[in-house]
Amino acid sequence: MASSHTVLMRLVASAYSIAQKAGTIVRRVIAEGDLGIVEKTCATDLQTKADRLVQMSICSSLARKFPKLTIIGEELVVWVDPLDGTKEYTEGLLDNVTVLIGIAYEGKAIAGVINQPYYNYQAGPDAVLGRTIWGVLGLGAFGFQLKEVPAGKHIITTTRSHNSQLVTDCIAAMNPDDVLRVGGAGNKIIQLIEGKASAYVFASPGCKKWDTCAPEVILHAVGGKLTDIHGNALQYNKEVKHMNSAGVLATLRNYDYYASRVPESVKNVLVP
Ligand code: AMP
Ligand code: MG
Ligand code: MG
Repeated sequence: MASSHTVLMRLVASAYSIAQKAGTIVRRVIAEGDLGIVEKTCATDLQTKADRLVQMSICSSLARKFPKLTIIGEELVVWVDPLDGTKEYTEGLLDNVTVLIGIAYEGKAIAGVINQPYYNYQAGPDAVLGRTIWGVLGLGAFGFQLKEVPAGKHIITTTRSHNSQLVTDCIAAMNPDDVLRVGGAGNKIIQLIEGKASAYVFASPGCKKWDTCAPEVILHAVGGKLTDIHGNALQYNKEVKHMNSAGVLATLRNYDYYASRVPESVKNVLVP
């Protein structure tokens, strides 16, 4: 039997090419014009034809390349978000959209791939569309240039389409210089590693394990930190609850500045 390291590296390499193919599907559905939008639980919780096609494509490719994944699945779990930022996808905010493939070992997120199908879409007709960012804990993260927000600036990025009073209260308590409201968990982590935002603050349930697994690895691989709003690490074993009920707090640097300013009133509402 191949060693677990060999399996992991094959899995990461496959996830990279599978995520790139997913990106082409995401672009094709927009180009064809019929998004096939379905409301899942409410008007802000949507699914499109791209979500469905990418889910099928990723799952069938993984199953074909790793027929034994369910056997080693006790320890190795793959968390897939075929389309992160679906609401924004349906509204034409295309660079908010990502495809997320996260790999967890014994409950810990250890490798991740993010494809951003519309990276560069405003850069003119000659620009190459899309990019793939990937990372492995202990190895690093690749496919982007690491940048930091200027020292002393507190720029918070948060939800655009799932806002609430609690979300707003928590951010206000952190005295930010600026607040960015954009779609997608993957997109917000990209903002952290590219120096556009200093903290991703989401004091609300709603975000799921497949939203955070791959982005968390990329952030951790470059020295950042992602937890729930209480500071607890997120678990990714097979049996874990899908919902990140206690929200998300993530930074590249200065994690303690933000963690120390989460109001008790917010913590009391968000039970892990
Ligand atoms: P957002 O920052 O609003 O784009 O959310 C990040 C991810 O969490 C997306 O995949 C959303 O679909 C999901 N999410 C966050 N809040 C909710 C909610 N209230 N209902 C459904 N999905 C949510
Ligand atoms: Mg998502
Ligand atoms: Mg999704």
